[in-house]
This record gives sequence, structure tokens and C-alpha cells, in this order.
Amino acid sequence: MSELNKHWADKLQSGDRCLATIRHDYDGSKNIHRAIVIVIENMRFVKEVFVWYNEKQISIPYNELTEFDPHEVSKVKCDLCSYSWIAVRPEELKKLECPNCGNLSHFENQSI
Ligand SMILES: [Zn+2]
Repeated sequence: MSELNKHWADKLQSGDRCLATIRHDYDGSKNIHRAIVIVIENMRFVKEVFVWYNEKQISIPYNELTEFDPHEVSKVKCDLCSYSWIAVRPEELKKLECPNCGNLSHFENQSI
């Protein structure tokens, strides 16, 4: 396959998450955008992924997919000095370096 034919979704593997547009059969206003789907199988030859969505198995063409960015933006508060700031962080991260006291500390999510 040439570089030009490559699609970012080629690298998706079973268990990966991505965002998809799920088209309603006949009513475009009912399309679901940026639905989080879980890859069951990447069917690279037909440029579609077979995914779980809402406990259903469906296939979605690559061109309806959006790369899932597992970063969260939220307001967090340092457990040590109570300083709060807006942090962009990987979803799984449990500790952050506080810009105020410099400690690597646990943090609390706060609503913005
Ligand atoms: Zn702090």
C-alpha cells in the first residue's frame, strides 16, 4: 500500500476507542456525531471498522471516523496547596505537577 492510501484508522486495533459519526438510516438530523465506539475488528481491506456501539455491533467506514484524543481538559485543584488551574492531561493520569508549589500531587477535578 502506498503512503497516499494510508489512513490513520489503519492503526486501529481491537479494543481501541475512536469517535464515529453514526448515520441514521433515513433521517440525517438523527445522525450521531462523535459517538465513542470500541473497535472489534479493523477491516483494513475494505476501509471499515467493525465496532461496538451501545451494545450493538456495527461497521463504520473510515471516512466517518475521528481520532479519539484521550486528553481531558478540566479545572483541577492541588491537594497540597489548594491552588487550582486548568489542566490538559491524559485521561488516565492520577498525579500532576502543581504550577504553584511544584509538587507532584494528587488533584481533585472541579467543575469549571
Ligand atoms: Zn500545589
